[in-house]
Amino acid sequence: MIHAFLGAILLFSSFISVPVFAQTTSDAQTMFKQANEHFVKGEYNEAIVIYDDILEVTPNNLSTLKMKAIALSNSGYHEKSLKEFFKILQSKPDDITALTGMGIGFGNLGEYQEAKYYFEKAVKKKSDSVVINNYKEFIDKVIAKYPYITTEKPVGLKIEIVIPDWIKPTAKWWAEGQIKDSEFVSALLFMIENKIIQIPIVETKSETDDKIPDWIRNNADWWADGSIDDNSFVQGIQYMIEKGIIIVDIKKSQEEIQKEKDDEFYLFGKYLRSISKNVADEKRYIENPNPSQEVIKKFLRDYIKWNFEEEVKTASSNFPDPTYQIINQTYVIHYKVFVNEQPTGLPLDHVSTLQNSFLFWENQELSTNGQKAIMEFEITDQKHEANVWVTWVVRDIGQGVLGHAHLGKGVVEITLGDYNCDGIFQLYDIKTVEKIMTHELGHSIGLEHTSDPNNIMYTSLKPSYAYCLLG
Ligand SMILES: [Zn+2]
Repeated sequence: MIHAFLGAILLFSSFISVPVFAQTTSDAQTMFKQANEHFVKGEYNEAIVIYDDILEVTPNNLSTLKMKAIALSNSGYHEKSLKEFFKILQSKPDDITALTGMGIGFGNLGEYQEAKYYFEKAVKKKSDSVVINNYKEFIDKVIAKYPYITTEKPVGLKIEIVIPDWIKPTAKWWAEGQIKDSEFVSALLFMIENKIIQIPIVETKSETDDKIPDWIRNNADWWADGSIDDNSFVQGIQYMIEKGIIIVDIKKSQEEIQKEKDDEFYLFGKYLRSISKNVADEKRYIENPNPSQEVIKKFLRDYIKWNFEEEVKTASSNFPDPTYQIINQTYVIHYKVFVNEQPTGLPLDHVSTLQNSFLFWENQELSTNGQKAIMEFEITDQKHEANVWVTWVVRDIGQGVLGHAHLGKGVVEITLGDYNCDGIFQLYDIKTVEKIMTHELGHSIGLEHTSDPNNIMYTSLKPSYAYCLLG
């Protein structure tokens, strides 16, 4: 009989929960924290050394595997990163971060069809994710642009682990008492032996007369409906096995299951090697699925183009005042806006969302000199006549500062991304940039901050990212 402790769910820093074995909890916790401190600073090598130490004790610690995989990916070690994500999927086939990470990894290798396969799986699990949809959009474009011959997978590499159609109805019928425990147990056996669900080995009491608690049947019912995830379902099953309420006679030993996983992992490595070979032989063109790095590189090269530092320093009084007319006792204030071009390589079109920010303010009823006021915006390509200059920046304009504008007129700086998501530069998503734009434009027309968190002129905003796996 193998004894093992159950994983405890612990919350570490702001990251993720990490189940670790009880006797090493405090060590692993401290180490994970330390590693993450390196990670957020982009010190991936230092972080990986510590993640490896944690994994030596708890090789299947998913949160650690995940952070290591992302650290490897951000350092450009795509094959190594893919292997870590693959390990995660071996124990948790529907893990969204791992599915997306696989897509990014294959995209970075240039095996775009395989990347598409994983992004599609991820998007099915989380259809409202901006990040996954951005990646999916990228991969569809790149496949159309660069046709190539896909690399064949080694025979026996079964990456797809799906829950067969009959399993969930069986769980439901069992929950409703329509089928016997023994039928449910055979479904469980099937899932355990096919690695669809992972049941950590637990010490089983000999048979008891304990009744199956209601919560377990409810769990099975909810799992069948998709309202709880596999983990919560597995916890119930584990409880029953542990208490001896159901006896699952697992024919395959844990060692055998582990060996199958190891074989799969070996084949996966072989597959990656053939991909790399084919890509090199074909001299296949590779486009990074995450454009953030390209954007920052080009941005820094043409720094002068986007930064109106001199103009930011000079008082806004150097800019011409907006013109106005009084129509029906309403001030109609007319702003001319010069919009700097977008940094090259930027896949997100912020110039057109700028129109949304204009509309937002044009639809507001404001007041000036105790009278009603409405705004009108017009884009001009003449800097000298513009009351407001909009430019896109990625320079650090202060800790967590998203934008900058003078009150009433002058230069408006809009930040396109930052280093705060996962230690490297990551672009914000379109909505975030639009919000920053609307806010800064608010300053340009003379508005100050408000204390209402729901108001666009609130002092702060939590940015969302376009491609960051941890965003
Ligand atoms: Zn502000």
